[in-house]
Amino acid sequence: MLFNELQLIEPVLQALSKEGYSSPTPIQEKAIPAILQQRDLLGCAQTGTGKTAAFTIPVLQLMHLEQQHSGKKQAQLQTLILTPTRELAIQIGESVNAYGHFLNIKHQVIFGGVPQYSQVQAIRRGVDVIVATPGRLLDLMQQGHINLNNIKYFVLDEADRMLDMGFVHDVKRIIAKLPAKRQTLFFSATMPPEIQQLASMLLTNPVKVEV
Ligand code: AMP
Repeated sequence: MLFNELQLIEPVLQALSKEGYSSPTPIQEKAIPAILQQRDLLGCAQTGTGKTAAFTIPVLQLMHLEQQHSGKKQAQLQTLILTPTRELAIQIGESVNAYGHFLNIKHQVIFGGVPQYSQVQAIRRGVDVIVATPGRLLDLMQQGHINLNNIKYFVLDEADRMLDMGFVHDVKRIIAKLPAKRQTLFFSATMPPEIQQLASMLLTNPVKVEV
C-alpha cells in the first residue's frame, strides 16, 4: 500500500515524499481513512508505530480543505493535541511542521518549565493548532490566553501515560471546556478499565484500531 492510495491531497503527498515516506505504517493505513471520514478513533498503539503521523496527516488535510472551502485566511484555533510530556509535544510539533510544510496552517507548542511569554505571543499572532501538555495549557486558559470554544479536532495522545503521570484531573478540566460537537482521536498504548472509561466518555461510535 502506498500513501497515494489513501485519498490524500497533493500538498500532503508532497510533504510525505519530502520526508522520504512512501508507504503508510499499519496504524496509518487504518486510521487515516477513518479520520478523513470524520469518524472518532480509538487507537491502541505504542510510540514507534507511526501514530503521530496517523493523526497529524488527516487532521491537517481536513483543516486545509475547510480553509479552502471557507476562504478564510486568518488562523483560528481548531485543533488541540494533548500529550503528557514536553518531549512528545516537541516531536508532535515537528510532525505538524513536516506534514504541513505545503499548507498554510500555524501551530504552537505549549509546555511548562519555561517562561510563557513567547508561547503567549505566538498564540496572540494566531494559531490553528496547539500541541500542549496539560498543566501549562490550563494555566494559559485560566489567564484568558487560550479558549477552546472553536476546537473541531481533539487528539488525546498517550492517555495511559497521562493518567500514570497524575494528569487525569487536569485532562478532565480541559475536556470540560471543549465543544461537544468535535472529532476526537484517542490514543493509548494500553487499555486498562480507567482508560476505557475515559475513552467511552470522550468518543462517539469510534473506529477502533489496534496495532
Ligand atoms: P511515532 O510512532 O509517531 O513516534 O513515529 C515513529 C517514527 O516513525 C518517527 O520517527 C516517524 O518519523 C517515523 N515514521 C512515521 N510514519 C512513517 C512512514 N510511513 N514511513 C517511514 N517512517 C515513518
